Amino acid sequence: MKKSKKRHTLNYLLTPDKIFSSFTDITPELLASYRIKALVIDIDNTLAPYEQDLPDEKTLEWFASLSENRIKAALISNNSPERVEKYNSLLSLPAYPNAKKPSTKAILAAMEKMGAAREETAGLGDQLLTDTLAVHRLDMLSLIVPPINDKKSLFFRLKRWLEKPFIKRYHKLHKED
Ligand SMILES: [Mg+2]
Repeated sequence: MKKSKKRHTLNYLLTPDKIFSSFTDITPELLASYRIKALVIDIDNTLAPYEQDLPDEKTLEWFASLSENRIKAALISNNSPERVEKYNSLLSLPAYPNAKKPSTKAILAAMEKMGAAREETAGLGDQLLTDTLAVHRLDMLSLIVPPINDKKSLFFRLKRWLEKPFIKRYHKLHKED
């Protein structure tokens, strides 16, 4: 990413840097090509649907491949300590519930714990208004996956509607990719 004073525009803050169809597409090789050595990862609808309380086999394998390639990871969730502790019971990662993203506080704490610098850390999530905004406030790389199993409430539909122009902008910017 180029450094410029204009980067904290709404367009910059809310447009993800890369969209993947699933987190499993984010391989250690790909992260190495971005010079990323650490990930701060959202749980709900990024790794698992709300109602799934533990990581499945494919998720455990993905985390094992990160670890084998010395890529550090931390869980940053706006959900409750109960949800996060249970999900993390099979992973034992640094985990931060009640993160209040787009607050950057938990992300900064996780990076300090992992000994990871901003330029070598990426955020992975499913929501532009929380996940992308939080990491772009820190000038970090934002990786996004579509929500695994979106809630159908009016509030969630409103959030997705607000995200639309930035998803469109992403696709316009990445037309040639
Ligand atoms: Mg989420």
